[in-house]
Amino acid sequence: MRYSALRLLKEGLTGQKGWTPHWRDPAPKDDYDIVLIGGGGHGLSTAYYLAKNHGLTNVAVLEKGYLGGGNVGRNTTIVRANYFLDGNSQFYSHSLKLWEGLEQELNYNVMHSQRGLINLFHSDGQRDAFARRGNAMVNQGDDAILLDREGVREHLPYLDFDNTRFPVYGGLLHPRGGTARHDAVAWGYARGADRRGVDLIQNCEVTGIDVAAGRVTGVQTTRGPIRARKVGIVTAGRSGQVAAMAGMRLPIESHVLQAFVTEGLKPVIDHVVSFGMGHFYISQSDKGGLVFGGDLDFYASYAQRGNLPMAEHVMEAGMTLMPMIGKARVLRSWGGIMDMTPDGSPIIDKTHIDGLYVDCGWCYGGFKAVPASGWCFAHLIARDAPHEVAAKYRLDRFRTGHLLDEEGTGSQHNLH
Ligand SMILES: Cc1cc2nc3c(=O)[nH]c(=O)nc-3n(C[C@H](O)[C@H](O)[C@H](O)COP(=O)(O)OP(=O)(O)OC[C@H]3O[C@@H](n4cnc5c(N)ncnc54)[C@H](O)[C@@H]3O)c2cc1C
Repeated sequence: MRYSALRLLKEGLTGQKGWTPHWRDPAPKDDYDIVLIGGGGHGLSTAYYLAKNHGLTNVAVLEKGYLGGGNVGRNTTIVRANYFLDGNSQFYSHSLKLWEGLEQELNYNVMHSQRGLINLFHSDGQRDAFARRGNAMVNQGDDAILLDREGVREHLPYLDFDNTRFPVYGGLLHPRGGTARHDAVAWGYARGADRRGVDLIQNCEVTGIDVAAGRVTGVQTTRGPIRARKVGIVTAGRSGQVAAMAGMRLPIESHVLQAFVTEGLKPVIDHVVSFGMGHFYISQSDKGGLVFGGDLDFYASYAQRGNLPMAEHVMEAGMTLMPMIGKARVLRSWGGIMDMTPDGSPIIDKTHIDGLYVDCGWCYGGFKAVPASGWCFAHLIARDAPHEVAAKYRLDRFRTGHLLDEEGTGSQHNLH
C-alpha cells in the first residue's frame, strides 16, 4: 500500500478500515542467501539496500525482540554531518544526503526536520577548533557557519551568555543538521524491505553462529537452525556477545547512555543545541517535550537503564546553559547500550571468517548513520568489497594503529 494524502482522505471518510499491516510476519525458512542478525536501524536499512540496490531478496533479518526496540527507538534523534576527519566526513555527508531524500524514497514520514544544529564554544581555543571543523565541513561540501556571540544570541536568546564559569563565546551552526523521528525510521526501512521480499523475523534470538572450514554456514536461533551463505552482525550494543558466538573478540565495550524528556511545552527551542563545556545536547520534539542527554554512565554494562549520578550531571549542565528549563518537569528517562570502539569510529568490514561481516561500533552517534551504514554494509555483503565512503572503517585499524580518533581522546572507550 502506498501512502498519500488521497489515501488518508479516503480512509478518513471510510472508517479507517482499509489500512494493511506495515510488514508480514513470516515464519523463518530453513535457508537464506543472507541472514542479518539484529532488527535495529542498521540491520533494517542494510536489508532494504540489499534488496533495492543489489536485487538480493532471499534475505532474513532476525530480531530477538521487536523491530525498533533497541537503540534505534531510544536515541535523542540528532541527525548531522559535522565530522572533521577524512573517512568520517565523507561517510556522514553521504548519510545526510540519503536522509534528505528518505521520506520520498521510503514513502514514509520519518519527520526529518532540518532545524539547524548549533555547537556552542566557550573559549578562544574552542573557537579555533570549531573554525577548523567548520572549514573541513565546507570543504567536504556540507554547510557550516561560524557565529560570534551576538550571532548565537539571534538564534538562542534564552541561553545564559554570561555564565561565570562557561560564558558563551559563539557557536558553529550546521543549518542542515536536525532531528528525525527515530522509530519511524526503523518502521520505514522495515516496510520497504518487506515490500521487496525480505523476511523480517521477530522474537528470534540468534544463539550460535555456525562455522565450518573457515566459512560461515548458518546460525542457531530460538526458532531453530537457519542455513545461510552470508551472515551480517548488526547488533549494536550486543555486538561483542554475538561476535563471540563465532569465536571473535571485537574491540568493543558496551556502555549505558541515558536520555530524558520533559512534559510537552509550547515551542521554545527551535534548534538542536549542544553545550561545548560539558556533554549536554537538547532539542524539542514535535509533541513539545524537551529531549536531552549527556555523557555515558562511565562504566561498562548491558543494562538498558542508567543511574542517578549521570542524571544529576546532565540536569546541572542543562541548568548551566539555559536556566529557564528548570521550570520544566522531566517525565521520563531511559537508557540504551552503546557499542563503544577505542577510537569512537565505527567498523564496517569482513571478518577472518568467510561470509561473516560486522557493522558495529556506532558509539552514541549511530542513528544519523542509519542510511549510509545500510547502504555501505549492503554494498560490502553483496560485492565483498568496501564502499568507498566506508573504506576506512576497517577492523584491523586497531591492530595497525590507523585510528579514526575524531575526539582526539586516545583509546579509551568511555571518552568517545
Ligand atoms: C540515549 C541514546 C541517545 C542517542 N542519541 C543519538 C543521537 O542523537 N544521534 C545519533 O546519531 N545516535 C544516537 N544514539 C546512538 C544510536 O541510537 C545507535 O548508535 C544506533 O541506534 C545503533 O544501531 P541500531 O539502530 O542498529 O541498534 P539497535 O536498535 O540496538 O539494534 C540492534 C538490534 O539487535 C538485536 N539483537 C541483539 N542481539 C541479538 C541476537 N543475539 N539475536 C537477534 N537480535 C539481536 C537487538 O534486540 C536490537 O534490536 C543514541 C543512543 C542512545 C541509547
